[in-house]
Amino acid sequence: MTALVFLDSEFPAGRVADATIPQLSVLDQGVTRGDGVFESALYTGSVVRKIDAHLARLRVSAATCDLVIPEEAVWRAAINTAIEAFDAVIPCDEAVVKLIATRGNEGNNSGTCWVTVSQAPALGRAQRESGIDVILLDRGYDSTVAERSPWLLMGAKTLSYAVNMAALRHAKKNGADDVIFISSDDIVLEGPTSTVLLAHRDGTAKRLITPTLETGILPGTTQGAIFEAAQAAGWELGYGPLTPAHLMDAEGVWLVSSVRLLTPVNSIDRTTINRDAQLHAELTAMVNAIG
Ligand code: PLP
Repeated sequence: MTALVFLDSEFPAGRVADATIPQLSVLDQGVTRGDGVFESALYTGSVVRKIDAHLARLRVSAATCDLVIPEEAVWRAAINTAIEAFDAVIPCDEAVVKLIATRGNEGNNSGTCWVTVSQAPALGRAQRESGIDVILLDRGYDSTVAERSPWLLMGAKTLSYAVNMAALRHAKKNGADDVIFISSDDIVLEGPTSTVLLAHRDGTAKRLITPTLETGILPGTTQGAIFEAAQAAGWELGYGPLTPAHLMDAEGVWLVSSVRLLTPVNSIDRTTINRDAQLHAELTAMVNAIG
């Protein structure tokens, strides 16, 4: 079951709609061009986790695309309505809250915005413990492209995920579960739907590292929350540039995202890598405590 609520100026709390029947115009540019932005957040324990960070990133993504979207209060009201509708029918441990804003129909000045709530996929939950096998794939851009070519919208969470989904299918056809993108100059970027983290241990010192945002990757809200918790717990923090060799040398590598949370990587390009159980347990505890 998916709960659906449109942001609609005539309905201050949002307009509840039926997700099982067609609701969008075939002329909507979100459909015809993938022209829009979105967020996926985790709803668990009666809370939408990191909602402030998701709303802030939605606003930045929209601004990057020159999209005008409703105020935060309007999104929050629609989210509450969607959650109420979802909880009334299928209360469950973990659900995905999606916020979507498109450019709307061609020729119209207003966009189309909606919220959905649906059950979280089971696979992502299982992989938090089993771990995943990943392959490295060349994204085809070098690590300085974001600054040189802002029209590529690097770092914005746009609806144009066909390339990301194709990379995941490519991984599956090659016997892997997921992908870490590498730039054409061999710098580690991100997963198609996740941020890369790696950790090192040196005696009692622990260090958590993620690729630098200058490479044009999406600023991950999960990575941000984990870094905050890790710093409070006395870990050192570091930001790339990272190369594939850094991944192979680490005590642990993880893909993190809002819905999947923290997924340990078992192998990269079929080579088994380190999985430090203690570091994994500490990071998992931090992720579970994210509010
Ligand atoms: N990078 C990409 C390309 C993503 O699509 C996502 C999430 O979907 C992430 C990183 C992780 O972001 P977050 O932790 O905010 O979910």
